[in-house]
Amino acid sequence: MKTIVLKFGGTSVGSIERIKKVTQIILNYKRKRNRVIVVSSAMSGVTNDLINKSRLISNNFDKAEYDVLISTGEQVACALIAGRLNHYGFKSRSWMSWQVPILADGPYASARISKIFTKVLKKYLKSGGIPIVTGFQGINDYSRLTTLGRGGSDASAIMIAKFLKADECIIYTDVDGVYTTDPKLHKKAKKIKQIEYDEMLEMASLGSKVMQPTSVQDAKLNNINISVKSSFINKPGTLITKSFKKKESNNQIITGITSTKNDSKITIAGVKDKPGVAALIFEPLSKNLINVDMVVQNISLDGKETDLTFTIKTEDVKKTEKIIKGNKKISYRKLSFDKNLAKISIIGVGMITSPGITYRMFKALASKKINIMVISTSEIKISVLISSRFIKKAIAVLHKEFKLY
Ligand code: ADP
Ligand code: ASP
Ligand code: MG
Repeated sequence: MKTIVLKFGGTSVGSIERIKKVTQIILNYKRKRNRVIVVSSAMSGVTNDLINKSRLISNNFDKAEYDVLISTGEQVACALIAGRLNHYGFKSRSWMSWQVPILADGPYASARISKIFTKVLKKYLKSGGIPIVTGFQGINDYSRLTTLGRGGSDASAIMIAKFLKADECIIYTDVDGVYTTDPKLHKKAKKIKQIEYDEMLEMASLGSKVMQPTSVQDAKLNNINISVKSSFINKPGTLITKSFKKKESNNQIITGITSTKNDSKITIAGVKDKPGVAALIFEPLSKNLINVDMVVQNISLDGKETDLTFTIKTEDVKKTEKIIKGNKKISYRKLSFDKNLAKISIIGVGMITSPGITYRMFKALASKKINIMVISTSEIKISVLISSRFIKKAIAVLHKEFKLY
């Protein structure tokens, strides 16, 4: 008898009709004599709505209370799923994270699951029940609810699979797998049959919303295979797994293309070119939890002054401006901001052994007159910052250049 974890995302449980459909999927696994455990996200739109409500109450909403608030959507979805399974005469009940319990470490709003006690779940599974567990939440050392970052139900499912030593972990969503690029942005995006953790991790971290980045990291660390499937249509999905040998005939260097929007570029012109200056600039930003992404420093021509450019999320621009202007430890000539930018990345382990990829990427973008503002690379990805007006155009030209269809 197999133990299978099924995770349903927001759109999959987005309405009463969808929840009814999802219970049919659950029962298909149950009828095949599997032990089935379900993890659910909140109905689509609910978490966003709760976040907006918190903002209307206070622009300084208490962090712990914020997590209590935004984790409530999962409770509703789980009770509705259990209720529908009960309606059909199946034994099922919901479990909040504190009832399991699921322990999590780290800051509110971005905690990570550290341990899951499995005794009660195992007992319930053994008795033929179908546990429905709230995704996205855990309890911390102070017995307070804490959430796992946006999209965090993916991590809940993977960690439940780990602690239960499940045979399968299936992420049901609104697309039938991981595609070469977001199918909503490019019609010719193609489903990837199998992708390795490192590539998926880069894709997720660089904007592919289909999997939460930390969840992929958890899967990699614990060697858990993930299947990504659609709850809307019954089609084979994508397997996310450890590194494997790609077919020679495939000869594909790039596996996927991602994009993020709402990026902003900040340039501090004329800062002193001496050791420690960058640290003085970035330290207060990091203390204020502002995520600095791409960084470039111009080569100083006179050895005295230089320009420092970096990118952050547009929602952090005001805060960043205030921090830099109030930073008495640095001096500079000019501070400038550029909003409405996007980061486009190409990802693939094939890059390690294939020279000339950077050139091909730049040439392809240039052929569409897309200006590159900042570049960053790693072994398996190249990212460029461009104007967000060109997202679709850039994806299309790169998709073609690297023959992803
Ligand atoms: P869920 O609510 O099920 O967790 P998400 O909205 O978090 O679903 O993730 C699914 C969405 O991810 C899809 O609707 C799709 O638009 C987007 N997406 C972005 N990049 C990709 C990609 N490379 N492959 C598939 N989907 C992607
Ligand atoms: N409901 C949460 C969110 O919207 C968690 C999730 O969807 O996985 O971020
Ligand atoms: Mg998601």
